Amino acid sequence: MNKIKKLVAQEVRRQREGLVMIASENYCPQEILDLVGSPLSNKYSEGYPGKRYYSGNQFIDEIEFLACTEALKMFGLSDKKWHANVQPHSGSSANLAVYLGLLKPGDKILGMDLSQGGHLTHGSPVNFSGKLFNFVHYGVDKKTEKLDYKEIEKIALKEKPKMIVCGATAYSREISFAKFSAIAKKCNALLLADIAHIAGLVVADEHPSPFPYADVVTSTTHKTLGGPRSAFIICKNELAKEIDKAIFPGLQGGPLENMIAAKAACFMEAQTPRFKKIQQQTILNAVSLAETLSKNGLRTVSGGTDNHLLLLDLRNLEINGRDAANILAEAGIYTNANTIPFDPATPFKPSGLRVGTAALSTRGMKEKEMKLIGLWIAEILKKPKDTKLRTRIKQEVIDLTKKFPIY
Ligand SMILES: *Cc1c(COP(=O)(O)O)cnc(C)c1O
Repeated sequence: MNKIKKLVAQEVRRQREGLVMIASENYCPQEILDLVGSPLSNKYSEGYPGKRYYSGNQFIDEIEFLACTEALKMFGLSDKKWHANVQPHSGSSANLAVYLGLLKPGDKILGMDLSQGGHLTHGSPVNFSGKLFNFVHYGVDKKTEKLDYKEIEKIALKEKPKMIVCGATAYSREISFAKFSAIAKKCNALLLADIAHIAGLVVADEHPSPFPYADVVTSTTHKTLGGPRSAFIICKNELAKEIDKAIFPGLQGGPLENMIAAKAACFMEAQTPRFKKIQQQTILNAVSLAETLSKNGLRTVSGGTDNHLLLLDLRNLEINGRDAANILAEAGIYTNANTIPFDPATPFKPSGLRVGTAALSTRGMKEKEMKLIGLWIAEILKKPKDTKLRTRIKQEVIDLTKKFPIY
């Protein structure tokens, strides 16, 4: 026990003294983390509120019902049209539940290619999605490095998929759910919007909403939404039965009611003015960071960002994405290696680096800090052999993080 407690303390310190710039990470508020660690973890509640397989669920039912209600409320949705399922353990299991609930194994699905910004669960051959379903893919335009809706429509009309998946993991531009919906209607496909990365921006009205365009929306709760490590599904009422059955008893057993309580709190927090401010600042920070980096000779894919992340193309430097992430981590700056669209390198040593601003914005950092951090990143990447530089910057990073306390 002491050994594990010590390691946890070391990890918390790493998070506190480092700059978390992994686009899919955030700092969940301590009050919400306390719910994750509550005795709700002890309770079995297979089934759904009012229809449980175990006794003693009177309070659990209220908690889960509240989480569903708040999930709809944060997107401004009515339960006359929409249904929320807050039981998925992760974004991946939410997506798998949608595929298994609404389609048959072997059915054709059109999704974004992993190497161009899509997620593993959008049909990668190493993922169950790609093994169980017949995925075809779209990517970005080679010149603009943005989604080309005319091209996507062409592919959709040719392939006639049963479902189209939109949403991405490494795409820094606005996604038009309205345009995807028009394409899906033309080929009679269901539309799944996977907003795992941008959910917080959508709730705060800083990115167009997938509602009412998508038939089903999946999301994680721990990326821009800033909550516990979990997920949820919202679907049209006519699909509710299939979605609920796919989660339980289809894929999961007992739901994690401690996580569901934490999700309810996260959804309530997401409706506060404080949260909206953080989301606005997240985008301002990403834009400011992209500008600083490009002024210092680093190219961002598609020339900038509309959301919380940017993708750096490192091909003009003498470093690949993996080594870049490793040396930045030596200075306490955490990012991740990523392929860039049409990457000539391998996924193991890709040419790109994905950088996000959600976590630092949660800590209260603004443009002034982004300019400083952008300069540090550019300096380190341009002089990969300079270990002294990284030691110096690591100390400056610690000094900076002290001004933005967390945990
Ligand atoms: C992160 C992500 C997921 C998966 O979430 P996990 O909780 O890691 O399983 C699914 N889709 C997209 C687009 C994501 O970015």
